[in-house]
Parts: sequence; structure tokens; C-alpha cells
Amino acid sequence: MDDRRDLVVVGAGFAGLACAKRAAERGLSVLVIDQQPSPGRYVHTTGILVKEAQAEWAAPAPLVRRMDRVRLYAPSHRHVELRGNGYYFLATDTPKLMQFLADETRRAGAEIRFGSEFVGMTRNGRHLVLDGHGVGGRFLVGADGVLFKRVAGKVFFARFAAR
Ligand SMILES: Cc1cc2nc3c(=O)[nH]c(=O)nc-3n(C[C@H](O)[C@H](O)[C@H](O)COP(=O)(O)OP(=O)(O)OC[C@H]3O[C@@H](n4cnc5c(N)ncnc54)[C@H](O)[C@@H]3O)c2cc1C
Repeated sequence: MDDRRDLVVVGAGFAGLACAKRAAERGLSVLVIDQQPSPGRYVHTTGILVKEAQAEWAAPAPLVRRMDRVRLYAPSHRHVELRGNGYYFLATDTPKLMQFLADETRRAGAEIRFGSEFVGMTRNGRHLVLDGHGVGGRFLVGADGVLFKRVAGKVFFARFAAR
């Protein structure tokens, strides 16, 4: 294995890109892999941002629209309204926003490979090597979403089996 990074992130959603961008800005060598073919291809959100996320990313105005309150409906049609003094949310063009976030993450110095699926990993000295990718990282972040849990599953089962 010749390709060694400080950090490998699985998942180029909000969590993975935020982590990768911050780590790259601090000088770590970072690789992000994501199984979807391009950013924002499969969106796992309605697209409402909290203001703290906008403060972090500063998405361009055409991609976001400010709202002072959000009303969430349950299937029963009962709802809860979210609003606060001076607080705001943003409705987003989510596929374009994800493309923007990926561009910003690359600009910070991280490499992102779309169309790359995490299937497992093997320990090689101080590195975790991604099966089938020929690349390893000293640290691995599983940001593969609440619905997928592939990375957490592999780590959990590896530890469980080692006991
Ligand atoms: C219906 C719905 C609506 C929602 N609406 C909102 C909302 O409006 N606002 C909000 O803040 N939150 C919303 N959420 C929560 C939302 O899921 C999270 O805010 C956000 O998507 C979480 O980002 P994430 O990066 O953790 O995961 P995700 O956005 O799910 O990203 C995970 C990434 O990992 C990749 N991946 C998964 N498995 C692998 C693998 N094996 N190999 C490689 N890549 C892999 C996926 O392709 C994906 O790109 C909503 C959730 C649901 C289910």
C-alpha cells in the first residue's frame, strides 16, 4: 500500500464534508470516498439548514433562502413550529448546495472520490486500509449516514470478533 493519508472519510454528505474540510484546513492529508456517482445525486434531507451551518459554510445567496420559522408536520397532521428571537433557517437547493460543499472541501485540500464504495477495511500497522481501494488512513471517519452504518458495523463487528 503506497497511498497513505492522515484521514479517510467515508461519506460526502454534510457530516463527512464538514469533517474533511476542517481537517484539510488544518494541514492533514484527507481522502473522502462516497458511493454516489456525484455530489447531491441522492439527497437524504428535506434541505433545511440551521443558521449555524450557514455560518460555517457561507453558501452563495442563490442556493439558500432565509426563513424565520419552520413548521414540522407529523403524519397525523399535528405540527410543531420552530422559531426563536433572531434565529433563522435556510431552505436550500440541496443538490447544488452539496456540489458547492464538495468544491469547498476540495479547495481546502481534500481529495474526494465519488463512485467509490466502502466495503470493509484491514489493519496494516498504524493504518486502516480500505478493501479494494489500495489506500489507507491513520484515522477513519464513518460519515455514511444514519441509514447506512456500514463503517460502524464493520468496526463494531471487528472488535466483537476479536474478543
Ligand atoms: C426524510 C429526511 C429528511 C431530512 N431533512 C432534514 C433537513 O431538512 N434538515 C436537516 O438538517 N436534516 C434533515 N434530515 C437529517 C439528515 O439526514 C441529516 O441532516 C444529513 O443528511 C446528515 O448528513 P450525513 O452526512 O450524516 O449523512 P448523509 O447525508 O446520509 O450522507 C451519507 C453519505 O455516505 C454515503 N455512503 C453511505 N454508505 C456508503 C458506503 N458504504 N461507501 C461510500 N459511501 C457511502 C452516501 O452516499 C451519502 O452521500 C433528514 C433526514 C431524513 C431521513
